[in-house]
Amino acid sequence: MTDGAGRTAADGPNVDGPNANGPTVYGPTIDAQTRCIHYGTVLDVVAMRFHCCDRYYPCHLCHEETAGHPAELWPVAERSSPAVLCGVCAHELSVDEYLALHDVESPCCPACGAGFNAGCRLHAHLYFEGAHPG
Ligand SMILES: [Zn+2]
Ligand SMILES: [Zn+2]
Ligand SMILES: [Zn+2]
Repeated sequence: MTDGAGRTAADGPNVDGPNANGPTVYGPTIDAQTRCIHYGTVLDVVAMRFHCCDRYYPCHLCHEETAGHPAELWPVAERSSPAVLCGVCAHELSVDEYLALHDVESPCCPACGAGFNAGCRLHAHLYFEGAHPG
């Protein structure tokens, strides 16, 4: 497989994340589309940027187990900040953009159309202040 659009290792010697086209994703990822040891279905291709450390992790459990500090929720006032990464195309969604996806039955990336896990809505309150499960 060739990837002519990919960046080279010259961008940094210490890339923990598997996603060569986007921000570094921390934690126990299992592939290049941000799947992790906790969530690994075909639809689990988003990573969340955590407000506390400004780092992307695939899920709240990854953060809990490897960040070494408690997670902080995104304040309602900062919902226009990019906080969600599509692991397929490296597009970053704002909190608002991402939460709006929870209102549709089959959420997908607005940039590349990759399907997202609709079950993620059940965990929105673990990342975003004022978000409600369901
Ligand atoms: Zn953190
Ligand atoms: Zn995880
Ligand atoms: Zn995408």
